[in-house]
Amino acid sequence: MIKKNIYLLVVFIACFSYAQKKDTKVLFVIVDGIPADVIEKVYTPNLDKIAREGGYTRAYVGGEKDKYSQTPTISAVGYNSLLTGTWANKHNVWGNSIKKPNYNYWTIFRMAKAYRPELKTAIFSTWLDNRTKLVGDGLSETGHIKLDYVFDGYEHDTINFPHDKKAMYIHKIDEHVVEKASDCIKENAPDLSWIYLEYTDDMGHRFGDSDQFHDAVKIADKQIGKVWKAINYRRKQFNESWEIFITTDHGRDKETGQGHGGQSERERLTWIVTNAKNLNGYFKTKEPGIVDIMPTMMRTLNIEPKKEQLWEIDGVPLTGKISLSNAKATNSESKLYITWDVIDSKGKVKIWVSTENDFNTGGTDAYKLLKKADIKKGQATIDVSKLPSNFYKIVLEANHNTINTWVVIK
Ligand SMILES: [Zn+2]
Repeated sequence: MIKKNIYLLVVFIACFSYAQKKDTKVLFVIVDGIPADVIEKVYTPNLDKIAREGGYTRAYVGGEKDKYSQTPTISAVGYNSLLTGTWANKHNVWGNSIKKPNYNYWTIFRMAKAYRPELKTAIFSTWLDNRTKLVGDGLSETGHIKLDYVFDGYEHDTINFPHDKKAMYIHKIDEHVVEKASDCIKENAPDLSWIYLEYTDDMGHRFGDSDQFHDAVKIADKQIGKVWKAINYRRKQFNESWEIFITTDHGRDKETGQGHGGQSERERLTWIVTNAKNLNGYFKTKEPGIVDIMPTMMRTLNIEPKKEQLWEIDGVPLTGKISLSNAKATNSESKLYITWDVIDSKGKVKIWVSTENDFNTGGTDAYKLLKKADIKKGQATIDVSKLPSNFYKIVLEANHNTINTWVVIK
């Protein structure tokens, strides 16, 4: 009798803790090439509705301008910065031809599959290369990662989506992708999904700042509204928790609104809309980067990568507690001058330095702990006279998060 009671108690506790640990599902959407001023000007009721649950912020792409992490404001480059949480100096995608991505910097999908293999992943995309080249679906270099639900490649289906000069077929593919995403969310509720929509960028390139471009943004808003409806269906019917991040991969040039790729303010200035509840002070008071979305999603999905991987990520989480952001470092003679933005002033920051970058080629770097500083100071000076090098990789490890920066001496 006692045994039986203990058994029941164990079952009860197991059920209880299972119910407590309800996972949140994550969806991120990239709508291509919409500058912040345009998303703020055009009527987007669905984005507004989502932002009311969480928030809206201006954001940036392009890495640090004129510094080692400067990154072209080009589409595939931006997508990969989102996917890997790193800038192009690490992920090595510099253009839309995606010549040689450095798969040592794992995408959010690979992180999910490696550390939470039970999570189901999905992609709904108007561009096939997002899966086959950036995520590297099925490639040996990515450990043969396989996404669970795949809806893409329609741009190569010229029977159902015949190509036309006005790019209406891209609009039709976006519509199709959104329909597939809505159905799949309603039916299968993948844990981690990516929706990519292209039509806005096509209209931007063709017409620049124009009614046509703005109409494309309104269409994208409606499409996101459909997806949001599917999410709300899951929330109501299945009592699930969902987090959505919507962003863009670059702005557009100031003069015409047609081009992008450079480092002008309008090309770098983007935005993020999310329904995430516990947005932190960094999201609310700073201007986040596209690289911040990936570590945010890892936090939500309870993905805890190896320390070496975490130390490479250039972004910081937008939700939950963080200690610091925006590490910068310069050198003069044999000293490193390091600064950071203080988000939570409590505690110390450990400053680690490596003069190698073996991670970049699949190896491990030897870091030395060179200083413990008060976070609240926002700066530290380190004597590296005994560590002469033309290259320093600096990691700031704090209570709630870790950030990194490089010094490259030419
Ligand atoms: Zn783009």
